[in-house]
Amino acid sequence: MIYLDNNSTTPCDPRVVEAMLPYFYEKPGNAASRSHPFGWVAEEAVDYAREQVARLIQADPKEIIFTSGATESDNLAIKGVYEMYRRKGNHIITVKTEHKAVLDTCDHLEKQGAEITYLPVGYDGRVDPEVLEAAIRPTTILVAVMWANNETGVLQPMKEIGEICARHGVLFFSDATQAVGKIPVHPRDIGVHIMSFTAHKMYGPKGVGALYVSRKNPRVKVTAQMDGGGHERSMRSGTLNVPGIVGFGKAAELALAEMDQDAERLSQLRDHLERELTALEETVVNGNRDYRMPHVTNISFKHVEGEGLMMTFNQNVAVSSGSACTSASLEPSYVLVSMGLGDDLAHSSLRLSLGRFTTREEIDEAIRLIGNGVNHMRELSPIWEMYKEGVDLSSVEWSEH
Ligand SMILES: *Cc1c(COP(=O)(O)O)cnc(C)c1O
Repeated sequence: MIYLDNNSTTPCDPRVVEAMLPYFYEKPGNAASRSHPFGWVAEEAVDYAREQVARLIQADPKEIIFTSGATESDNLAIKGVYEMYRRKGNHIITVKTEHKAVLDTCDHLEKQGAEITYLPVGYDGRVDPEVLEAAIRPTTILVAVMWANNETGVLQPMKEIGEICARHGVLFFSDATQAVGKIPVHPRDIGVHIMSFTAHKMYGPKGVGALYVSRKNPRVKVTAQMDGGGHERSMRSGTLNVPGIVGFGKAAELALAEMDQDAERLSQLRDHLERELTALEETVVNGNRDYRMPHVTNISFKHVEGEGLMMTFNQNVAVSSGSACTSASLEPSYVLVSMGLGDDLAHSSLRLSLGRFTTREEIDEAIRLIGNGVNHMRELSPIWEMYKEGVDLSSVEWSEH
């Protein structure tokens, strides 16, 4: 089985698992227990992990709030800013291609009186900074733009947006889940004030994430969404997931040490995969290829239905299709539709995301299996036959029955 779905989740690196193991049985302490060595050992482990995570993004350890993952971090950031800065304004700017954890949180706030602007993206998946700047109002309190898109790997013009936010005195939040640990992500340099990320997308365990919250220039505060024992500087109460946090720290250390070589190797493999698959007729790569994560490609195979195509090889290769995101339903990906792809192209897309453990042999095998699948599907397809006969498919009037 070949795993090319690393944007959904990555395997946990065995070195991460090894670092976590003592914290399940031998070192069971609660990091908030101040009265005995079990607690001290756990607290020390969490402090060390906080330094490892902070170092990866060039932050101060005090700027790291541990959470249960990026979904929680997104909720804490957006709802927390809205509640904390509500008297300054109620307007939030975000983008149509954000992750659901951001979009659904904004929808939730809209029902409570927030005004939300959902910016469009170009055909290449990027936001136009000028359009963003023009959307800023006196009541704007937050701009929320993801660092890299989960479906296409497209990178947003973060530096330009950071400068705009600084000029207008607006807080800048980024869901950087897909970027952290894989490319250099330094929020302070970019002017990002609040940032979400998660361990399980960077070879750490599931169920642990972080929110970066700037402590100086500006000093940002978010209203807690989880009240209780006052953990994490009272921004996120709840007993810390010590083994998970230790694993997150180790994953961050490994990412810092190995990111460059991983990115170099994976971009070569990705380019090889992309070159071979787009050598098939009637294929397109979705999203900007110059501003993109090194390990991802999103390809549409025209006149082939992505879900069906996936069925031809999903016993051997795991990928994700442009219709799969809301799983049971076969709605085309809202990310691709927002980029201006028609339903047909969105429906015929596959997202292939490589990872640290992907090998050259696996990529060669995936090329063979996916290529065979595309050819097989097209042989069966009356639409492909019409296309080959030169029928202009856009002129065909399809009967409703
Ligand atoms: C995976 C992902 C999330 C959700 O992260 P969890 O830790 O699983 O909650 C949020 N945003 C983006 C961009 C993601 O890729």
